[in-house]
Parts: sequence; C-alpha cells; structure tokens
Amino acid sequence: MLSEPLETTRDLDPEDWPAFRARAHAMLDDMIDHVASVREQPVWRRQSYEGRRRFQDPAPRRGTDLTRIHEDFRTRILPHGAGNLHPRFFGWVHGGGTAVGMVAEMLAGALNANLGGRDQAPVDVERQVVRWMADLLGLPSGSSGLFVTGASMANFIAVLVARGWALGPESRTAGLGETGAGLVAYASRAAHNCLARAMDMAGLGSDALRLVQTDVRGRIDVAAAAAMIAADRRIGRRPFMLIGSAGTVDTGAVDDLQALAGIAETEGLHFHVDGACGALGVMSPVLAPKFAGLSRADSVALDFHKWGQVPYDAGFVIVRDPERHTAAFTSPAPYLRREARGLAAGAPWLCDFGPDLSRGFRALKVWFTLRAYGTERLGAMMLQTCALAQRLADRVDCEEELERLAPVELNIVCFRFRGPSSDELNAAIVVELQESGVAAPSTTVIDGRLAIRAAIFNHRTRPEDLDMLADSVLTLGRRLSASMDKS
Ligand SMILES: *Cc1c(COP(=O)(O)O)cnc(C)c1O
Repeated sequence: MLSEPLETTRDLDPEDWPAFRARAHAMLDDMIDHVASVREQPVWRRQSYEGRRRFQDPAPRRGTDLTRIHEDFRTRILPHGAGNLHPRFFGWVHGGGTAVGMVAEMLAGALNANLGGRDQAPVDVERQVVRWMADLLGLPSGSSGLFVTGASMANFIAVLVARGWALGPESRTAGLGETGAGLVAYASRAAHNCLARAMDMAGLGSDALRLVQTDVRGRIDVAAAAAMIAADRRIGRRPFMLIGSAGTVDTGAVDDLQALAGIAETEGLHFHVDGACGALGVMSPVLAPKFAGLSRADSVALDFHKWGQVPYDAGFVIVRDPERHTAAFTSPAPYLRREARGLAAGAPWLCDFGPDLSRGFRALKVWFTLRAYGTERLGAMMLQTCALAQRLADRVDCEEELERLAPVELNIVCFRFRGPSSDELNAAIVVELQESGVAAPSTTVIDGRLAIRAAIFNHRTRPEDLDMLADSVLTLGRRLSASMDKS
C-alpha cells in the first residue's frame, strides 16, 4: 500500500475549452485562407538564416501557450513549405492536396484510431477503399490491400510478398538460403530506384534487380526482358518477379503491361506494377486503355498523394491473392489474439498485410476524397493535366530556343533551353525559377543531357501557368546564356 496519498496531476485536456475552441477555429480559418489563396503566393520562399536557426532551440521543459506556438507556425513554418499546393509547382512528382483532404486529416487526428486491426469502423473504411481500388484496377474483389506511407513502401511490400511466394514459408524462419541467393527480378532502366532499394532491403541485393533496356518511348523492351530471363535461367539464377511501370518517374512512360503479364504468366513470375505515378489514371476512360494489362497484375503499388491529390502521406499496395499477401507477414503473438467476438474480432487484421502494427487512419482522407469528387471528376482532372502537358510540349516544339528531350506520354514534359554548356545553363534556369518563387520545376537527365522537368500533377494548374513557365524559361535562358558568354 502506498503510504502517501497519490498526488494527481492535471490531464492534458484544455483547462479552458472555450478558449481552446476559439483558437482551434482560428487555426482552421487560417488554413482555409492559406489553401484558398495559394495562387497569389510565391511557389517557394527560402527560409532566412535567422528563421532556420530557431529550429536549434533546445527541447522545451515548460509548456508554451498555444497562441504563441500557432504564431510561430504561421511565421516560421507555413510560408516555407516546398510549395506543392501551388499551381506552378512542377517538381518531382507531388500532389497538390485539397481542402477536403485537409479537413479529413483533422477528423482522423481527432479520432486517433489505430488501424492495426480489431473490430472498429475505421478498419472497415480501409477495407472499403481496398474493394473500390480492386474494382477500379480490374483486380478480383477479394484482393487484399493496405495503406502505407508511399509507393516506396508499397513496392517493398510487393517484393516481400513475391519473395515469400517464391521461397515458401520456411524462408520466414530459416532465412533466404541458397535458393534465395539466386532470386532475380526484372524492371526497366527507367523504373524508380525505390525498386532496387526494395530488393536491397529484402536481403536480395540491388544487383538482383535486372534493369532491362527501354525503347524510344521509354518503355521496357519486352523482347529484351524475355531474353534476359532466359539467359538468367541458363546460368542457374531463379527469376521470380517481373515489374512493370505504369508511368515512369522521368517521362511518364507506361510499359506494355499486357505483354509483361503474358511473359510473367508463361515464366511463372510474380507480376508487379509500380503505378505510383500513373495507375490512378484508370479513373479516366480516356487514359484507362494505356493501362491495359494492369488487371492481370499480382500486385500494384500506387500513391494517392500524387495524382490522387490526397494530402501526404497516402501510399497503397494491393495484392491479387490475399493468401500470398498474408503469408509474407502474419505472425501470431499471445498479446494479439484474434477472437470470434468482441473488440479483438475481425481477423485477418490489417497488420497481417504489412510490417506495421500500429497504423494511422490514412484511409479516411482517401475515402473522403473519392466520395467528395467521385472517380469521374478525379479522372477528368488527371486527363486535364495530360492535356496541359501536351500544351506545354506544343509550345516547346514551336519555340526555336527550346528543345524537347522526351515524348509526352502522360503529364510530364522534359525540355531545355538550347545553347552551349546547356547542362549548366538549364540547371541555373531551374534554380533561378525556384528562387524567384515564380515556378518550381525540377531537373533530370535524359540520355546524358540535363532536362528541365515539368511534371503536371497539380489539379490547380491552368494553361496560363504553363505559359508563365515557358515565358520565364525563355527570359532566364536568354539572360543567363548572355552572362555565361561574358564570363
Ligand atoms: C514517387 C514514385 C515512387 C516512390 O513513391 P513515394 O510515395 O515517394 O515513396 C515510386 N515509383 C514511382 C514511379 C514514383 O513516381
């Protein structure tokens, strides 16, 4: 028995609920203003030295008033994001988010649900989105799926599923063994590097991802893939996985998924599609034919936080055969017993489909987004970004000082300003554009040449935004090449 009476400390709820409510409403109003006025703001503002230094402050021992913290957020954090809400953010592959997604995040935060498993409605929301996606992608309705951070994790899960399927359940206890050392997978040279990393993290080594050459449109050379598989078999390697890209990160190229599905079938390989960039395009009836064959995949990785405009993060993996899926992850523990009734019911739990046990409610913002807009409108928005990319490509083709470096397959345009020391010049153009706050494309290298890469993933982008990008590249290109000539 305790001799002293227990000294109770206050709980962490607000002492003054009305004051908290007022502050919380002000925060929400602020963020609605921020989203509504994003077009009027610069795309990106570099942090000041002074502002950045404040992040070195030590851990707080005493509490600070919420109003003060909010003010800090408004001045030090809010203006200095990467800028991907902005209609002229064209860098990498970033979604723009929506106001609907924002409020769904707030609701999820308040619910504080842990979606590892158990009998609760949030789990049913995630399962419903999985069924919706199976339907959209043309996979069986019983396919299993899971929300994860992003496509890097989704692709990694797919590699683990394929690996477990190839090696059998013993490998989960005994390790990869000699057979494991012989496993090889295939993807094109244009595939995202997270696939090589996934192979590395799966213990197979990144060299076990064979990179197949691409054709002039940046798509995997299907005949070359078949030849590599045959050659690997001849030297005793064990092909187990074939990976198609539904939208490559550099140029948006879509592999011939039908042909790949055919090879995977005859060769007995797990057919996976990295659809991070493009797979959600199936929502547009115009774009959907590009992805024919997706419905034959054994697994698909995709990202709702890119073309789907759902706030970060919202990666997703779906697997045709739920048994192949759970076989890679289920592991019983006495403190995680599943029951037929009560809160511990509802097996299989979502934690049986991936490495995470505690998981947040990512599904809610996707559920809200899909319901608020419907797949038709989202598909139309994606198609529009493709039309905008075509418009930019046409402009580039018309301007003598500009040159296009890759075909436009979906919504990504790679181009550059012509001239001597072109790599240096175009890198400088991109930095100047970003620092000016006018537009934010990124760069990549196409056939050894540095490209200005404009990826149009933002639903807010309009034709005039692309005119402004092209005009600014021309102005900067002329100015910078003149000054480079002098130096
Ligand atoms: C973005 C992307 C990835 C990685 O996805 P994350 O969500 O950033 O982890 C993988 N593949 C492709 C084609 C991508 O565009």
